[in-house]
Amino acid sequence: MSNFWFYEGLRKGKKTEKFPLEEPAEKLLRPSLMTGEGETGCPTEAISDGKWDAGKCIFCRRCEPEFTPTGNQSIYSISGKEKLFRKSLYLYRLDSGSCGACNVELGTIFDPQYDANRLNIFMTNTPRHADAIVIMGIMTEGMKEALDMAYEAMPEPKLIISLGACAISGGILGNSPLERGKYNVEIAGCPPSPYTILEALAKSRGD
Ligand code: SF4
Ligand code: SF4
Repeated sequence: MSNFWFYEGLRKGKKTEKFPLEEPAEKLLRPSLMTGEGETGCPTEAISDGKWDAGKCIFCRRCEPEFTPTGNQSIYSISGKEKLFRKSLYLYRLDSGSCGACNVELGTIFDPQYDANRLNIFMTNTPRHADAIVIMGIMTEGMKEALDMAYEAMPEPKLIISLGACAISGGILGNSPLERGKYNVEIAGCPPSPYTILEALAKSRGD
């Protein structure tokens, strides 16, 4: 079986996208920046006073056509870049109550198409070796202590990254792990696209 994949790789050639790109090779409309105007009965109150909040949007399309996606996947915010991590950034993932999709998309950035390793971005299975904790999902009772313990175990300096609407704002259920503004990096989407994740991680260390 392994021979099959080896020959497939030779036949198809290099699959990894260039990074950064002016336009991602895979142009996704959702999740991406939404523009429009008007009140639309958004289930997560992502639209308020005519303004769209990426961190609350679950991309359910209920507001369309008043609001439409632009294809701009740069829907993340960063407060406090950490240049120390330019040589290597080790991520520890903590699922505090996700549906699983954010977790899958985070894993995708290490696939051949995105290849986060070439940007010196890696995963670690222990918070003691982590530079950043990536939190995804709402805050479930059973994971509160695990989150505190993981955060305490990480060495300084450290980044707190929220992945997806649930972690940023509670999404459709409410109850996010941390309040808005307490994360160093907020990566929007439900789930966020791999390109958005990769770009946000690269920018969080000053690239
Ligand atoms: S796509 Fe859904 S969640 Fe997002 S702004 Fe529109 S109605 Fe709200
Ligand atoms: S943000 Fe969306 S994809 Fe991510 S855990 Fe919540 S419901 Fe699932």
